[in-house]
Amino acid sequence: MNPIDSPHWHSPFRQPERVADATEVPWDDAADFLVVGYGGAGIAAALEAVEKGLEVLALDAFDGGGSRAMNGGVVYAGGGTAIQREAGVEDSVDDMFRYLKLETQGVVKDSTIHGRDQRYCDEVPYGAAIGQVMGDEQDGAGLLILDRAPYRKAWHQVRKNDMLPLRPQPQPQPQPAILALLFASRKARTLEELARKCGLDPRVLGETARDYNLASAGWQTDRFGKDQKDIHAIVQGPFYAIDVSIRSRLFPLSSMTVGGLRVDEDSGQVLRADDTPIGGLYAAGRTAIGLPSHLYISGLSAADCIFSGRRAAAHVAQLAQQQTQKQAQLQQS
Ligand SMILES: Cc1cc2nc3c(=O)[nH]c(=O)nc-3n(C[C@H](O)[C@H](O)[C@H](O)COP(=O)(O)OP(=O)(O)OC[C@H]3O[C@@H](n4cnc5c(N)ncnc54)[C@H](O)[C@@H]3O)c2cc1C
Repeated sequence: MNPIDSPHWHSPFRQPERVADATEVPWDDAADFLVVGYGGAGIAAALEAVEKGLEVLALDAFDGGGSRAMNGGVVYAGGGTAIQREAGVEDSVDDMFRYLKLETQGVVKDSTIHGRDQRYCDEVPYGAAIGQVMGDEQDGAGLLILDRAPYRKAWHQVRKNDMLPLRPQPQPQPQPAILALLFASRKARTLEELARKCGLDPRVLGETARDYNLASAGWQTDRFGKDQKDIHAIVQGPFYAIDVSIRSRLFPLSSMTVGGLRVDEDSGQVLRADDTPIGGLYAAGRTAIGLPSHLYISGLSAADCIFSGRRAAAHVAQLAQQQTQKQAQLQQS
């Protein structure tokens, strides 16, 4: 259904203009509030601005929606919200603050990820968290080591389209995983042979696998704190190494920028190096510093976008109101 025909479409909507000669059309425009990037934060900002009576112009390099349009919809319902109360969960803003402080300062602690030399993290956390260690500490290098069972399981998941983080999408996209399994992986009968093929030290890979298998059997704790239930012993060949390095053309580990421009915490105005705000320029969403600026936590982005977009619009509206009042006073005097 065309959005214009939808009973849920409340705002005036104009179809995009298609012009034969771009030079005959005036391209300059003016608005109280200009949104560049009509994704999660941009839409929140635009809606808030419209609600506050500002005239809004929103631009997007593509169709709008941004990554917000693919969002899995995970949100934090913490801080003593109505949803929690209804579910009988006791929480408070202070508890949520304490929890987030723990999460954002925390360090990242059926397969192992190897960098240039050895395994360097728990492989279970969100891709972005692993990407951070990979990027910051391992020069972007990562090899995913699997034995027969998880490799077969990966193929099974690809066939069933049962993959994260693509599972919530209306159109599952197994192609990158298929390409990785087929073309970004190396296979060997033994771990020693695999190490040689990948340019790893066979002794280090062997020791890593031994340690990992001991943790899998519960005889020792995993050195990166990986839960025993997530540790599948690497025992049965053939063995595989998939290149998930940031530079891998076929299957780079998904990662994202966290943090962004420094902004004034009250207004969202972008700050200069000397901490003075740049008048009229605001950053919101992933381009602005957000709660997951130290470490990414899934579910905080949506909230970040809404709050930071609305914060920028509210500040502009407040300034506009002050200006109108000043002008009225001047006219009266
Ligand atoms: C698959 C997936 C699932 C996710 N799931 C969750 C989740 O469950 N919960 C959660 O909280 N977060 C989730 N996220 C993260 C969250 O969606 C993003 O962090 C959030 O959308 C970022 O909002 P944003 O406004 O900063 O950017 P976006 O929503 O990406 O919007 C940026 C917009 O800017 C436009 N743009 C870029 N450059 C220009 C330019 N030069 N000129 C004009 N326009 C430009 C883009 O086209 C885009 O429309 C998910 C992300 C993805 C990709």
